[in-house]
Amino acid sequence: MSQAPARVTAVDTHDIRFPTSRELDGSDAMNPDPDYSAAYVVLRTDAADGHEGHGFVFTIGRGNDVQVAAIDALRDHVLGRDVEELCADPGSLLRDLIGDSQLRWLGPEKGVMHMAIGAVVNAVWDLAARRAGKPLWQLLADAEPEWLVGQIDFRYIADVLTPQQALDLLRRGRRGAAERRARLLQRGYPAYTTSPGWLGYDDDKLGRLAAQAVADGFRQIKLKVGADLDDDIRRCRVARAVVGPGIRLAVDANQRWNVDEAIHWTRALAEFGPYWIEEPTSPDDVLGHAAIRRAVAPVKVATGEHVHNRIMFKQLLQADALDIVQIDAARVAGVNENLAILLLAARFGVPVCPHAGGVGLCELVQHLSMFDYLAVSGTTEDRVIEYVDHLHEHFVTPVVIRGGHYTAPTTPGFSAALRPESLARYTFPGGTYWAADPDTQKGQAA
Ligand SMILES: [Mg+2]
Repeated sequence: MSQAPARVTAVDTHDIRFPTSRELDGSDAMNPDPDYSAAYVVLRTDAADGHEGHGFVFTIGRGNDVQVAAIDALRDHVLGRDVEELCADPGSLLRDLIGDSQLRWLGPEKGVMHMAIGAVVNAVWDLAARRAGKPLWQLLADAEPEWLVGQIDFRYIADVLTPQQALDLLRRGRRGAAERRARLLQRGYPAYTTSPGWLGYDDDKLGRLAAQAVADGFRQIKLKVGADLDDDIRRCRVARAVVGPGIRLAVDANQRWNVDEAIHWTRALAEFGPYWIEEPTSPDDVLGHAAIRRAVAPVKVATGEHVHNRIMFKQLLQADALDIVQIDAARVAGVNENLAILLLAARFGVPVCPHAGGVGLCELVQHLSMFDYLAVSGTTEDRVIEYVDHLHEHFVTPVVIRGGHYTAPTTPGFSAALRPESLARYTFPGGTYWAADPDTQKGQAA
């Protein structure tokens, strides 16, 4: 008698909020008081191994409940799935989620619903990697190119990237992977840090943290800009004086400007040698980015953390609108769509420097960059993963930074699981932290 196959038995969701606005950690020109949050999902199964799949969307406070509701709306697509089949082909679930014609109306393939799909799909990848006994980067790097191509939705991008071209890139990409893997395990993957440069920090704190970053081995730091030009000139001067000429200094406007302002402002900061200007204007303005890029060169243009999907990335690349692709692990439809974006970037020869920080974005995206290094781009030159040094303590397997590099994770999975104590404390509004907070009780906080 054959045993019944294991099934997904529960899709649990949690509204998790951290009170980061109290310290101005994470403050920038458009988001002055974020409470870094996660709409968090756990897939449970009746498999004997007891493994769960964890995933989440990063948000910044109010609206996290909306994001949780969007994940809840996907539950019926996931419950009862055969675990073995699901983990052997996460793309099969993605196709069903994207193809839900009534929910598709809310996008298509963008915004709250699309991010919810990303969380669920990423939870499946976490489960698949745990069941395989491998960290996700390794599961992806070990996978056959044909199978990886089968995980990608080529609809709307096949005019610039066909399945055959993707297969060629992946076959070429894995040459020499064994040596790179040894290097990765030994040295890790280069990081840069945004921790010195939050807009709410005063010059002393900026200078102190910038010096510390260099002492810690980082070769690039990033400053938030875009609220006040005189302040930005002063802050860039402080940072450049502290780090010296050999360290890359990126600046990030978080979508603050119109196109002409972006050009004017970036040129005004040019004397400090900014390496890239990040999110100079609306993430939807493909041609605006192209105009900015032409006008501010040799300063590079970077964007991606708010780019909805692979189709927008395709257009940014087609229009020569960016120098740096900033994938985000929790903005698009999970690992599968990020595979498409990594391959689009490779097709155009544009380096990928992921967005991270937030809640757990460092934990997730390190896996994608390490896969990119081993099996797609084959290099870490001009490639860095963002690093922000807060909230890692809430994760079961937090990132490990050594000498300005991400250490390759060795624990099976996608590094996505939050600690049970953190869930109990920061669940909103009923967790022990928020229940004891007088502002929450008055309905004012988060
Ligand atoms: Mg940014």
